Amino acid sequence: MQFDIITIFPDMFESYFSESIIKRAQDKKLIKINIHNLRDYTKDKHKTVDDTPYGGGAGMVLKVEPIFAAVRQVKSKKFPPTADPPKAEKVKSKRKIILLSAKGKKFDQKMARKFSKLGQIILICGRYEGVDERVAKHIADEEISIGDYVLTGGELPAMIITDAISRLIPGVIKKESLLEESFSFDKKSGKENGREAGSGKREARREYPQYTKPEVFRKWRTPKVLLSGNHKKIEEWKEKHTK
Ligand code: SAM
Repeated sequence: MQFDIITIFPDMFESYFSESIIKRAQDKKLIKINIHNLRDYTKDKHKTVDDTPYGGGAGMVLKVEPIFAAVRQVKSKKFPPTADPPKAEKVKSKRKIILLSAKGKKFDQKMARKFSKLGQIILICGRYEGVDERVAKHIADEEISIGDYVLTGGELPAMIITDAISRLIPGVIKKESLLEESFSFDKKSGKENGREAGSGKREARREYPQYTKPEVFRKWRTPKVLLSGNHKKIEEWKEKHTK
C-alpha cells in the first residue's frame, strides 16, 4: 500500500513516521509513504500556494493549480505492489484521492478497513481557511474528516488516517492483536477484522479492560479472575466487560 501525502509542511511527518510500527512497516516494505511539498508544484518564484477568497472573508485559501499539478504528478507514477501478501489476502491495486476536510465524511474503523484494501491513497492536506472547492469537486474522490472539530491543517488527520489504515495491512502487526479490538466488528459481514465473530458481539463494541504487572499497585487490584488460569472464566469475564 502506498500513501502519497500532499502538504505545505512536509517536515511535520518526519518524526511520527520514523518511529515504531509505522517505521517497521516501511522497513519491511509493507507500506510506502511519500511526502510531497505542495510548493514544489507552483510556477511563480515565490512558490505561492494560497490566495484571498473570492467574495471576501477572512484568511487565505489553498489554490487549485498546485494541487492539480501535484496530484497529476503523483498519479503519473505507477505505484508498485509493495509487499507480497498471502494469496487469499491479495489486495486489488486501486487508488483513492482524499481531501482532508472538517466538512467531510467522518473517518471510522470501517472506513479504515475498506481503505486498507487499496493500493494507493493520495491525501491532500488543507491549511488556512481551507481549499478551493474545485479540489473537492473535480480532483478528490472523497472529503474525509477525522471528527467534529476544526484543526489548523490536514497534516494530523493525514497521519491519523495513515496510521489507522497501516496497522490493518497484513503483516504490519500480529493478526491476533487485531482480533476483539474496539470497533473491529463489522455488522454487515458479521466478522471481526475478517474473523467470524463470537455470539453477542456488537458493532462499535469496545474492548474489555487490560491489566499487566504488578498484580496490585497501591490498593488497585487486578481482577482475580484474570489471574486464575481458568480460560473459560476469563473468556466470560472478557465478554462481560466488552461494551
Ligand atoms: N474553514 C474550514 C471550515 O470551517 O470547515 C476549516 C479550515 S481548517 C482551519 C484548515 C484545514 O485543516 C482544512 O482545509 C482541512 O484540510 C484541515 N482540517 C481541519 N479540521 C479537520 C478535520 N476535523 N478533519 C480533517 N481535516 C481537517
